[in-house]
Amino acid sequence: MTLNQVYNVDNINEVIEILGNFGKDAKIIAGGTDIVIALKNEKISPKVLIDITKIEDLKKIEDDGEYITLGAGVTFTNIVENHLFRGNLWGLYKACRMVGSPQIRNKGTIGGNIANGSAAADSIPPLIALGSIVRLVSIEGVREISLEGYYTDPIKENELITEIKFIKPKENQVLTFAKLGLRKALAISRLTSASLVEFDNEGFIKSIRVASGALGKYPMREYEVENYLIGKKIREETVEGAVERLQNSMDERLKGRSTLPYKRVAISGILKETLESAMTIGREVAAW
Ligand SMILES: Cc1cc2nc3c(=O)[nH]c(=O)nc-3n(C[C@H](O)[C@H](O)[C@H](O)COP(=O)(O)OP(=O)(O)OC[C@H]3O[C@@H](n4cnc5c(N)ncnc54)[C@H](O)[C@@H]3O)c2cc1C
Repeated sequence: MTLNQVYNVDNINEVIEILGNFGKDAKIIAGGTDIVIALKNEKISPKVLIDITKIEDLKKIEDDGEYITLGAGVTFTNIVENHLFRGNLWGLYKACRMVGSPQIRNKGTIGGNIANGSAAADSIPPLIALGSIVRLVSIEGVREISLEGYYTDPIKENELITEIKFIKPKENQVLTFAKLGLRKALAISRLTSASLVEFDNEGFIKSIRVASGALGKYPMREYEVENYLIGKKIREETVEGAVERLQNSMDERLKGRSTLPYKRVAISGILKETLESAMTIGREVAAW
């Protein structure tokens, strides 16, 4: 199949209409950092491309006091440069700052990172830890699903991701992130971990969400680790216990994979880094 047309659109309705008309023969292009490679390698061969980079509604970063909403067209650089993603949202800043190279960060979007569906997509573990909701729009209407559940009920061929939103963390909650890449500059990450930790006023963990990247078919919550850590303080022995639980989950999930022995060792440092940095930042905020 040959590419017949590229639509340069400036509003969401137009995208929905074109997707509705062409179905699987149409593909959205945002930053192009993934899809251009797929087109070149003939992994996909759509009849039409829909360029969404001119749609202003998809570029918003909004803070209404309760929720933070990111348009699907927000780039990694937009996040790195926005003051919202500091302090207790530092983990999202760090994940976006560690993506590929400056060129990739300038072009690559959050919507593309989700839609591409890679298990190693860097922005996803912190967004899962934040409990993010993804909004998908099609001629059939609007669908809102948790990012955690997205991978078992992913985007359909007539859908556009319009935004991702999450509840703003409270002052006693800290989002952290750690990544082990293959190479420093242009690494597609091979292992990531993100944690959203809520501390009580004595430094015990009141609630926690831990998400991992590239430890399975898709990024996911690590419930065994979370259940173990609730009510504990982050100390050397607690971190060791958390690592052990994660390694046990990995043994099941990655059984027979050649990467398992390496990942078992590597995850130890990654999880340790996210938990210990949460404790350091939490201490600065709460001074216990
Ligand atoms: C050299 C290099 C290094 C990289 N390093 C990293 C890295 O360190 N970490 C990382 O996570 N990723 C990395 N990537 C992958 C890539 O940059 C990201 O996945 C990026 O977020 C993709 O976004 P995009 O806007 O470029 O998507 P595109 O390439 O435009 O699209 C990707 C897919 O998503 C679909 N899509 C895009 N936007 C939407 C939308 N709003 N609604 C529905 N479907 C949509 C497209 O149809 C396509 O199928 C790297 C890529 C390269 C080439």
